[in-house]
Amino acid sequence: MATLSQVELHKALYELITGVALANDAKITIYDVKDEPCLPITPTVFMVDGILYAVAIQEELDRFLPLHLFTITTDIMIHQVVDRVAVMMGKPMPFISVRCYALYTGEGQPENNTLRLSDVTARIPGDEELGVFEVVVKVIDTDFHCNSPAPSLSEGFWDCNCEESQFCPNSLNECLDCGAKRENMPNSRKNELYGYLISKIEAFRNTGITI
Ligand SMILES: [Zn+2]
Repeated sequence: MATLSQVELHKALYELITGVALANDAKITIYDVKDEPCLPITPTVFMVDGILYAVAIQEELDRFLPLHLFTITTDIMIHQVVDRVAVMMGKPMPFISVRCYALYTGEGQPENNTLRLSDVTARIPGDEELGVFEVVVKVIDTDFHCNSPAPSLSEGFWDCNCEESQFCPNSLNECLDCGAKRENMPNSRKNELYGYLISKIEAFRNTGITI
């Protein structure tokens, strides 16, 4: 398949960060994210099963990323997720869980497994009541996935015979471009799929071209 849709790319992203493939009919909602001048690549935010996922691609880990993702996800919750009129009319606020990730694409291994808001916020000595507010960003080393010596297979995508990007989502039983049939083909390799995914997100976020 020549190009994957935004939804299919986000399904691959979900598989990368959670290790679980989404079912074909699973609902994924992708939100608009305002450009954040401090972040070279605008993060991606989407929701699956009531959980809001915020994912930033980072060539260098930014210690302020937890604060940026907190700001971005809060803005999205207020303006895009919650129906404020319904809440004002008495409807209870939905409970929204937020999970933040940094996809590390830099050289070598990332210095940290997590980035915490409390690492950059000062505390007032003696006041333990303050400082309980926390945002944790899980860091995922994409190099680990992309250069894994024993490539594992993706649950959500299969290989076709297209010259470029041979990834077809499981929702298609036949590639629309090359005509390959899923039943005859193996699943896609995770490392290739993730490499393709990250390059697409980078291109999309940097130039605004449609993925
Ligand atoms: Zn194909």
